[in-house]
Amino acid sequence: MFRQQSVGAARPQGRNRFDKIQWSEEKWVLPVAGFIPEGTITRILESTDIVELVGRYFPLKRAGQGFVALCPFHNEKTPSFHVTPQRQIFHCFGCGKGGDAIRFVMEMEKVPFPEAAEILAERCGIQLERGATGSSAEKRKNLYDVVRWAARQFVGNLASPAGRIAGDYLERRGISAESIRAFHLGYAMPGWDDIARKAPSDGISRQSLEATGLIVTKNDSYYDRFRNRVIFPIISPQEKVVGFGARTLDPNENAKYINSPETALFSKGKLLYGLNLAKNEIIRTGTVVVVEGYTDVIMAHQHGITNVVATLGTALGREHIRQLKRYARKCTLVYDADIAGQKASDSSLQAFVEEEMELDVATLPEGKDPCDCLIELGPEVFRQRLDAACGIYDYKLRAVKAYEQNDPKRAAAIIDEVLDLIARIPNVVERRIRFDRVAVMLGHRLNAEESTIRQRLIEKITKAARTARPGRQPSAAPGESARPELPSVERELLTVSLQQPELFAQLAGEVRPEDFSHDGLRAIFRTAWELFDENGSLQPSALSARLAESELASLLAQLVSDTQGSPDLKGRLESCLPAFRQHKARKRISELNQLMLTAAQKGDAENFKRLEHEYLGYLNRGGIDGQV
Ligand SMILES: [Zn+2]
Repeated sequence: MFRQQSVGAARPQGRNRFDKIQWSEEKWVLPVAGFIPEGTITRILESTDIVELVGRYFPLKRAGQGFVALCPFHNEKTPSFHVTPQRQIFHCFGCGKGGDAIRFVMEMEKVPFPEAAEILAERCGIQLERGATGSSAEKRKNLYDVVRWAARQFVGNLASPAGRIAGDYLERRGISAESIRAFHLGYAMPGWDDIARKAPSDGISRQSLEATGLIVTKNDSYYDRFRNRVIFPIISPQEKVVGFGARTLDPNENAKYINSPETALFSKGKLLYGLNLAKNEIIRTGTVVVVEGYTDVIMAHQHGITNVVATLGTALGREHIRQLKRYARKCTLVYDADIAGQKASDSSLQAFVEEEMELDVATLPEGKDPCDCLIELGPEVFRQRLDAACGIYDYKLRAVKAYEQNDPKRAAAIIDEVLDLIARIPNVVERRIRFDRVAVMLGHRLNAEESTIRQRLIEKITKAARTARPGRQPSAAPGESARPELPSVERELLTVSLQQPELFAQLAGEVRPEDFSHDGLRAIFRTAWELFDENGSLQPSALSARLAESELASLLAQLVSDTQGSPDLKGRLESCLPAFRQHKARKRISELNQLMLTAAQKGDAENFKRLEHEYLGYLNRGGIDGQV
């Protein structure tokens, strides 16, 4: 018995495989049909403890028989992600995602079924028999091997006599031998082809060097990407080397730092330097400290401050913040002191606000970066600065104060930035509270009318709503608009209730067709509902007969043939209903959000109050995760 999984995009047709450009286009999208025997799947699942597995990605809290956490798949403030050890499953009541350990890895690592199975198989030491085609997981695994191989070369180079120049540099920067080991620092030789030359004898192809960004190909020739550089391997939270940062040792080289290019393994927009080593302390303290440079991270860890990471030379973006939210509640950014309030105006702040992650700013003594501060002033001063970090709004308001005498224009611009940030707070109640605080402070300081400031804010909220990014619209349920797949809760409700007519009766008593957000599912439910209404019961054959001619037939077939999942249909129905109700509530909340905004703009206080009452009612009832 084989379970067949076909994955990946369709292979481009009619192309010459040997054409170089085509090859690079096709690289990692070759479709594969991975055949994994059912027995192997069972063994993998039996050998995996889902609690331990999930716990490796983010912290779980015990709750009754199981565990809960903030859902990694949608944005929320109160945990609706449940792990049930007895049944070895996870389920999120907020976004409806759920399944077994393999499904969890598919969702977390964004990989198809065979790869997820392979990741777990590797973890529990189960050998996978493979079909005739190599799987893309195998290719990915090979890439990991290639990058790890390169990391070993670099480490070896640093230890060799030729690596002396890099060793001297690291010593001058105050980096200890222990840190060099912990961060697996290395050295790339000065020649053009050190890596390219060594690879073939270790069985590594030119293609995989290219695919991992270790060589640069130009016309028909190729050469090592990293030459005469100190190498900082970038290691994923799962302890895999995925790429490299590299600092030149050549004083005439313009590019001081370079990174691996974007590859199947390496993405600058997501990765954070040092997260593999910082993860545990971040979880323990609930706080992550973000600095700018690789050596800043190393120096902090070397001085025992180990919840510190850095981006790879880019601004902190949304993907980074989502990544960090899995481990931390709060983020502290460390800035140099000399640019009062200026730097903090970049887009990362907006991303923090929109992703609802708490943000503090710590400033260092004049002219010091974290590395200098730690070495010259000691870890205590650095720690004090972290402890003295203030919230982002206070930070901005201090800048207003610093400028208002001598540069009122600049001060006004910062006020605008603050209002911009407030306008982006997704939760309307929090937004109001925040605004009230800021308005009082500003009104007091600038003798400005509070109502003028409020007017500015409303303009900004309207603008922010207009320019809101797709997928982050307040009216969209979390994670739903971006994905074409069927809303899983709605699907599950129908799958279950169509299998057992008594359950359909129960469902029909609670749910209306218009409660379904998916067009196809709504239409099927409506037809079933009508039949139920006509006959007092639902015959599955009558339903398929009625839909046979329509486009819905195949969707219906898909639903009724889905025999996966627990046979406890009633239990399944009942576990879905809360999420479905929550979805309904959330829909209403986002409507209310809009209506309140309109009422506020019209100055319709009475209507606003009525809407706000309903809104707060939803919040107080709990169960809503703040994603409004
Ligand atoms: Zn969720």
